[in-house]
Amino acid sequence: MPIYEYWCPHCRRRLTIYLASFSEPAPPCPQCGRYDLERRFSTFSTGKTSQAVYEGILSDSQLKRGLVRNDPRALAEWNRRMSGGEKAAPEYEETIQRMERGEMPAEPFGESPGKSAAET
Ligand SMILES: [Zn+2]
Repeated sequence: MPIYEYWCPHCRRRLTIYLASFSEPAPPCPQCGRYDLERRFSTFSTGKTSQAVYEGILSDSQLKRGLVRNDPRALAEWNRRMSGGEKAAPEYEETIQRMERGEMPAEPFGESPGKSAAET
């Protein structure tokens, strides 16, 4: 269940959504219910865009196989790479640590608290 960032053009909100599988299409916006979410890739302080990180992950066949199988350890590694090695928000960090122990978290994250792209 990888974590993706989406932008809803109707609500003008950035959403962090936790998908059930690596290849799953974008879900409807949790605010307005429309299927217009755009996947976003943020830029990290490493200078590497997350698009580049994402492509690196896709070229890592072992990691990719783990993601396709929904292996929680692979998902945790995916999230680590996507976050550029920076510590995740506390509520994510706990989930990621559980995933690294091989547990699949039961609840989706939903939207990220307090962060809206309209503020940037
Ligand atoms: Zn919306």
